[in-house]
Amino acid sequence: MNSARPQWFTRGIEHIWLPYTQMKTAPEPLAVVRTDGSRILLADGRELIDGIASWWTACHGYNHPHIHAAVAEQLARMPHIMFGGLAHEPALTLARRLAALLPTGLDRVFFCDSGSVAVEVAMKMAVQLWLNQGNSQRSRFVAFRGGYHGDTFAAMSVCDPEEGMHGLFAKVLPQQLIVDLPLDALSRQTFDGLLERYAKELAGIIVEPLVQGAGGMLFHPPQVLRHLRAAADRYGLLLIFDEIFTGFGRSGTLFACEAAGVRPDIITLSKALTGGTIGLGATVATNQVFEAFLSDVPDHALMHGPTFMANPLACAAANASLDLFEREPRLGQVAAIEAALVRGLEPARALPHVRDVRVKGAIGVVELDRIDDLRALKRCFVEAGVFVRPFRNIVYLTPAFTISEEELNRLTGAVVSVLEKWTRP
Ligand code: PLP
Repeated sequence: MNSARPQWFTRGIEHIWLPYTQMKTAPEPLAVVRTDGSRILLADGRELIDGIASWWTACHGYNHPHIHAAVAEQLARMPHIMFGGLAHEPALTLARRLAALLPTGLDRVFFCDSGSVAVEVAMKMAVQLWLNQGNSQRSRFVAFRGGYHGDTFAAMSVCDPEEGMHGLFAKVLPQQLIVDLPLDALSRQTFDGLLERYAKELAGIIVEPLVQGAGGMLFHPPQVLRHLRAAADRYGLLLIFDEIFTGFGRSGTLFACEAAGVRPDIITLSKALTGGTIGLGATVATNQVFEAFLSDVPDHALMHGPTFMANPLACAAANASLDLFEREPRLGQVAAIEAALVRGLEPARALPHVRDVRVKGAIGVVELDRIDDLRALKRCFVEAGVFVRPFRNIVYLTPAFTISEEELNRLTGAVVSVLEKWTRP
């Protein structure tokens, strides 16, 4: 092992501000020099098996040659061109392909550069749809406890109040209706009552379908989404599915809305859209939503346009990623991962302080009562040769769909053995 820190690290670390990190006390990040498949190679020579796939993006593993070739070819031809007044093949092909994959009617794709911005655009679409009809009252959203939709301001306002930092930013966040998911008779009654009471102020409902990810890796059944669809229809609200985490096979089907048999009015995509290669977001609306913006009044146009929207490199990566979903047995691999996660994580259920073990698609979760020292636990995983990033009381795995059986066994084995030591009284 080479323990020397590379020069770029020593010279640059003093100038960097890291995500979700208390910079005063945080340990240094791990210096990475290369990725390959499900492996992360560190500057000191160690190799880790990746359990997170870079926040769930690298669904085909790192450095897939097909995506690599598509991006290299696009790089040589046209790395970027503005999307105002100009159009290019990778974006138009991608829009057509996404529309073909999504439920019928979700036909209009607005590209941006990240998940949070895709959510901002979805919320703006919903509010402006009402404004275009002369209704300025309907500007609020119903969102759910346990939800996470991003870190920009409108996105934060629809996150779980604690996770979304509502308290800290209370004065600047739009006030939304944050409620429990209608999971049982009582919560359905509360939800229906709130909608009845506030419908005239509401633009839409936003939810992560089937799996609430960063808010706690919580699963809910499809009936919940059918209830939301019916409620949205009852009051003319827009139903927004944020599939930034669940989309592209992560929850077992290509999109979670398929499994639920529910078509939203707007869907947001990002993360695995490019196979984790380059940032790209998409907000896809039904024709009905799109048509509410068609007008002789210029201001009725959708008022949004990120500089790097529809970046050709990102679109080329996304098209290549969709090729891989067509050519390679990704959903079969997800089913095999699901079975292996169930088998591999089951022994954790018997450990003290383990509250729940749950698996859906390529998402495996061990929920503990609490984790007192997250930093130390993260260190234990690295020492065990895996990259796993627990948060709050949750240890989870979201590996690449191309991970080998042996690598996956090593990941689940590491989770169980590290937690065995960790939870020992
Ligand atoms: N929505 C969901 C469901 C997410 O999981 C995330 C990121 O974790 C986002 C939105 C925000 O995406 P980004 O981090 O690309 O802004």
